Amino acid sequence: MKVTDHIEQAKSTLFSVEVLPPLKGQNINSLFGTMDKLMEFAPSFVDVTYHREEYVYRDAGNGLLEKRTVRKRPGTVGICAALKHRYSIDPVPHIICGGFNTEETENALIDLNFLGIDNVLVLRGDPIRSEGRFKPDPNGHSYAIELLDQVVDMNNGTYLDPELKNTDSTNFCVGVAGYPEKHYEAPNLSSDLRYLKKKVENGADYIVTQMFFDNEAYFNFVDLCRENDIHVPIIPGLKPLTGKRQLVSLPQNFYVNLPEEFVENIEQAKTKEEVREVGIDWCIRQCKELMERGAPVLHFYSMGRSAAIEEVARAIF
Ligand code: FAD
Repeated sequence: MKVTDHIEQAKSTLFSVEVLPPLKGQNINSLFGTMDKLMEFAPSFVDVTYHREEYVYRDAGNGLLEKRTVRKRPGTVGICAALKHRYSIDPVPHIICGGFNTEETENALIDLNFLGIDNVLVLRGDPIRSEGRFKPDPNGHSYAIELLDQVVDMNNGTYLDPELKNTDSTNFCVGVAGYPEKHYEAPNLSSDLRYLKKKVENGADYIVTQMFFDNEAYFNFVDLCRENDIHVPIIPGLKPLTGKRQLVSLPQNFYVNLPEEFVENIEQAKTKEEVREVGIDWCIRQCKELMERGAPVLHFYSMGRSAAIEEVARAIF
């Protein structure tokens, strides 16, 4: 079922979660263990992230370093199929531009369609960790909107090969990313919103936001979107903070602001347990307000850990 149908049919705010594929060489049972616990809260859909390749340098033994390309968390498509089969849940694979040419993307989308997967979240992806700038594959997409256009083309029965006639179309519901505090490369929020609007005009069915810790950022973002004629559902992304180090790592990795009161509360906490409690309480407060003000879904970033999400979900659902 499509994410947008879940939202349309819902009588109250829905719960969803984003999970990571296991590291290469690890068993899928660790992910099933996480999902077994989260199923208590009946997630409407589960996003599965995609991780692009990284460069690693190994000692070649001759005084030189050998550069190798590795994909540390492969398996997004397979995991989506496994989740759908095991839990009868709607998986939402993340599809990224980085590292793929358009034909590889088309083939991945065909696989997903054959597997009966109804949703995709299309993203540009971040630069390779050791590179400062995003570089597209020579025959790949530079921006999420180009990838979106490819999915919309397939939904209209148009594949890359112009010779293909009378083809079966796909029917993906397509999500895109939105940034209440703007994307880190955008010169300003208006410019970022202009491109977001274009993604919606070109066929995006819904938006999922980057995590935020100040609900005003989300409410302002939704207001701005509506003023700019962006009328698709905007799903808030949430993450309970669980450790003091995240005061640095979350802004560093996700370009988000942490409100002063929240930071003070975390800094004043004396033990790890207290820090965790403050983080979880803050997230519960965020969720309650978002629900009161009609957020369609609460979408949680697990980043490989679900215990804190379970505590939040137990307090609000
Ligand atoms: P785009 O929409 O392409 O935007 C990128 C930047 O370019 C923005 O600054 C935008 O304003 C600008 N821009 C957009 N279109 C144009 C244009 N036509 N011309 C000029 N400028 C333009 N990353 C992963 O690698 N894997 C994941 O699984 C993943 N999941 C995510 C899930 C969510 C909900 C979010 C919010 C992010 C996720 N990311 C993931 C991170 C994402 O890939 C990065 O934030 C990336 O830098 C931008 O992706 P985007 O789809 O927003 O890009």
